[in-house]
Amino acid sequence: MSVIALVGNPNSGKTTLFNSLTGSNQYVGNWAGVTVEKKSGKTLVGNHDIVDLPGIYSLAPYSMEERIARDYVLNHNPDAIINIIDGTNIERNLYLTCQLIELNKPMVLAVNMMDDVKSSGGNIDCIYLSQLLGIPVVPVSARRNDNISKIIEDIEDVIANKKIPPEINYDHNTQNALNEVYSVIVRNCELNLPYSYYASKLLEGDGEVPGILKLNKEKLDRIEQIVVKYEKTSSYGDREAMLADARYRFISEVVKKAVIKGKSDKKMTTSDKIDLVVTNRLLAFPIFLLVLFGIFSLTFGPVGTFFSDLIDVFFTNILTPFVEKVLYASNAPEWTSNLLINGVISGVGGILTFLPQIVLLFLCLTLLEDSGYMARAAFITDKFLRKLGLSGKSFIPMLMGFGCTTTAVMATRTTENVNERRLTILLVPFMSCSAKLPIYALFAGLFFKENQGLVVLSMYLIGFMVAIISGLILHKTMFKGNMAPFIMELPAYRMPVLSAVIKNTWQKCKDFLVKAGTIIFAMSVLIWLLQNFTPSLQMTADSNESIFGYVGRMIAPIFIPLGFGTWQAGVSILSGLVAKEAVVSSMLVLYSATNEEQLMTILSGVFTPLSAFSFMVFCLLYVPCISAFATIKREMGSWKWALGSAIMQISVAYLISMSIYQIGSLFIR
Ligand code: GDP
Ligand code: MG
Repeated sequence: MSVIALVGNPNSGKTTLFNSLTGSNQYVGNWAGVTVEKKSGKTLVGNHDIVDLPGIYSLAPYSMEERIARDYVLNHNPDAIINIIDGTNIERNLYLTCQLIELNKPMVLAVNMMDDVKSSGGNIDCIYLSQLLGIPVVPVSARRNDNISKIIEDIEDVIANKKIPPEINYDHNTQNALNEVYSVIVRNCELNLPYSYYASKLLEGDGEVPGILKLNKEKLDRIEQIVVKYEKTSSYGDREAMLADARYRFISEVVKKAVIKGKSDKKMTTSDKIDLVVTNRLLAFPIFLLVLFGIFSLTFGPVGTFFSDLIDVFFTNILTPFVEKVLYASNAPEWTSNLLINGVISGVGGILTFLPQIVLLFLCLTLLEDSGYMARAAFITDKFLRKLGLSGKSFIPMLMGFGCTTTAVMATRTTENVNERRLTILLVPFMSCSAKLPIYALFAGLFFKENQGLVVLSMYLIGFMVAIISGLILHKTMFKGNMAPFIMELPAYRMPVLSAVIKNTWQKCKDFLVKAGTIIFAMSVLIWLLQNFTPSLQMTADSNESIFGYVGRMIAPIFIPLGFGTWQAGVSILSGLVAKEAVVSSMLVLYSATNEEQLMTILSGVFTPLSAFSFMVFCLLYVPCISAFATIKREMGSWKWALGSAIMQISVAYLISMSIYQIGSLFIR
């Protein structure tokens, strides 16, 4: 049993391979920066510990998640490395391979995306490549599970036989300089990494190595002389560029010998053609909006509603009467049926009727992500954000905020600049997370039957606009200074694979179901209790007298200017602090409606379309759930920032909802 690190460029398929090797379900997406933490698991074959890492282009890291990967490889001393490379982009991927070879660790090269290489008419002679590099090379397709077990066989072999990659022979001048530096450093301390690695780092000009090796002045001077001499041998005159050039020359020799390029490498690829339209200066934004509109129309149109209704029918016409009958037959006290039907079934069942919408939305988002369109969306909006003085780097976490604020906040780790990262964390919660979907689905379904899709889309757009405007204001006030330039690599478009899409969607839906079965279940029971007991713990049938009634009446006046000053709305918003789905389940429990029509009748007495809209906007913008808040606190590293963000969120939500309601009231009666 050994510890194996999975190392490679972003988007080369590390996580896909990790999932195939371990049978786990880590998040896979077709863009750089999906994995921001290291994740370990056990391989199904051989029971090794395997560690999935964020992607890196070289061993000189820039951002936080790159540093995580580099530090792991350098300092945690894994027994072996699987270097996974994207076969369709082999030159650039091999750059990291060269650096990894210098680490003198047992290593296997997995050439991924062989399916794409072959379908474009190319090929990679992995046997020859293995001879040229001196390490085992396995052609694989991580996504199709092709040849995966061979990697494990080879890695077990290199570990058992301590097979260490041979040194790479660079050009004469570089090799000389490396040898000279090598002979200067004293080799007397026990270090994790080979001295040849440190020699190349010193030649490159790494700032940390002199300290690690405890080099004295005299030795540093001698190295300096070697560097000066080396720099004179090339017109570049810059050590770092020269070493990079040496590596690339070695790579291009190797590639020339072992790789047959497919047709797509020469002509304009299909990807490029699609991009001409999709990222076109004028068309990009309208297309993006159209795509979003399409998704929301599908999700909240006839398809989503049809399945929702089916689930509703199951709970209302089948499960409820069944439970009633069973309880009646067993002579159960009345409160049990009240708890089960008005508490649990209303709360949990009510949330579950939105499952079809969640499934459809995630299905669409996964398709966009897997195909590579999401990365374009980031690219398109980057240009737009730049005009507003914001960096496009913030956009990817913001997009992820459509899924879950917690993971989106973590995704800001890809941002190098601390200020920029803080700013992004402050803005991410404005992006509408999927847990808020049931709120929109409920209210839009009741009050905006004709334009459901449009109204829900407007929530997402309002969230986005508010994020941008807040970003602008914060940038001009608290976060002055220039943002780091944003370099985004556009991944190739890929045909989404059905099984992967289903797996991805299922994963997200499972989270939703688990939440419904745990937190929402517990919340529904709690809400029922708080609604059925008075502060002196007497059971009451009049919920106005209940604990919730009291608490709700205390906070309700705050929301009068926003148009929903009822105590029920107040406590729903409170319960939304635990989980956003709970807003809906509390509404359902509090108004104890057994079906949608009944609820419609009750709610339309309480809300007008305008106040419903204002309520939706408030739920969209006010503080995220408790787990997201905890993540913000952790990633920001202080309570001050976390509380500050919560206060900002609540104020913004309040101001905007109030404006909508007050201004709207002038026009709508
Ligand atoms: P990571 O960033 O290195 O962890 O890469 P991911 O595992 O997240 O994968 C990036 C993208 O490449 C995803 O869209 C995968 O579905 C896709 N992908 C992974 N392996 C293969 C493969 O063997 N063939 C093809 N065509 N696509 C793949
Ligand atoms: Mg990954």
